[in-house]
Amino acid sequence: MKKRNDRLSPETIAAQAAGQIDPVTGAVIAPIHTAATYARDDDYETRGYIYSRYGTPTCLQCETVLAEIERAGDAMLFNSGLSAACAVLESLPAGAHIVVPENMYFGVLVWMQRQEDKGYLTLSKYTPADLDSLRDVMRDDTAMVWVETPTNPTWAVTDIAAVAGIAHTHGAILVVDSTTAPPPTTRALELGADIVFHSATKYLNGHSDVTAGVLCTNDQNPRWEDMREVRKLQGTALPGFESWLLMRGLRTLYVRWDAACANALKIATHFENHPLIEAVQYPGLPNDPGHDVAKRQMTRGFGGMLSIRVNGSEDQARNVAASTNLFLPATSLGGVESLIEHRFTVEGPDYGTPPNLLRLSVGIENADDLIADLEQALKSALA
Ligand SMILES: *Cc1c(COP(=O)(O)O)cnc(C)c1O
Repeated sequence: MKKRNDRLSPETIAAQAAGQIDPVTGAVIAPIHTAATYARDDDYETRGYIYSRYGTPTCLQCETVLAEIERAGDAMLFNSGLSAACAVLESLPAGAHIVVPENMYFGVLVWMQRQEDKGYLTLSKYTPADLDSLRDVMRDDTAMVWVETPTNPTWAVTDIAAVAGIAHTHGAILVVDSTTAPPPTTRALELGADIVFHSATKYLNGHSDVTAGVLCTNDQNPRWEDMREVRKLQGTALPGFESWLLMRGLRTLYVRWDAACANALKIATHFENHPLIEAVQYPGLPNDPGHDVAKRQMTRGFGGMLSIRVNGSEDQARNVAASTNLFLPATSLGGVESLIEHRFTVEGPDYGTPPNLLRLSVGIENADDLIADLEQALKSALA
């Protein structure tokens, strides 16, 4: 097997994901391991694998690539982002106090609230861009601070290094959901996070054909091993085929990311002062409230996610989402194809999302085609 240089840049590692030459066949792409069980050797020892619920060689290979591009000591892959988040929560002591942003990914918040309703943990909330609001809710027994940046669906930016300082002063761990700022632009562990979380369903895979989640850390402590135990017992490791698809997606991560960032900036700039638009929320715009922190902590582009608030009612905003031809009216984000979503329809009135907000996940199509599509949808729905 060829030896890899430790100082390779992450683009090179990603481009050659799954690309180790198979010693038996010479195949340049790794096989997909689908076995559910693994035979012991002549001495009745395992060869490192026992049963697929514990993880498979393909899953481990993909974890190695993810750890390398995140520059982490270890990565753990799950069959969804949610199951990865649940493993983190499961590893906390019963009744733990955790602190979360008031705007965050809907599904993770719903799960946390469920846990709180059952008395398994207590939740306090802070405003992402306001560190004093975080200091106010920290307690000496706070077990975990959760950051999501930029935050879905308003793209508020949180200063990871500053939050790490506050969390660690109180003895809490910092977990960063970096789904919308993947490793090409932000490596949260280097900014002080104890664990970085990604829904790999999004940019890491990038093709809207895998559901997966990953945790990365440099601190392989007993809590980390507890998460592995949760994954093993709940059967939430990423299966072989999905791990292989994710590796295939990772090979183009850096070029997809650059293309999506360039398109999103072009769209945000185009609609910033548009008569049918009330506001554009995108940290890449110089006037955006999160721009200064984003410039420091998103070192290679501001991402493909932005929201536009239309000059119109809830119904009119929904009609815009129903009138695009290229932007597909679907949830999720980070794929090569552009998506549009009226979040208020999905979340209802309880989560603070404005009724006139449309969330855009900008893909890698031609930016002018995307702009023309939004223009015609805005005109037909708002005119
Ligand atoms: C999608 C998403 C999740 C949840 O991940 P799944 O893969 O859908 O389970 C968590 N956080 C963010 C920011 C997401 O976009």
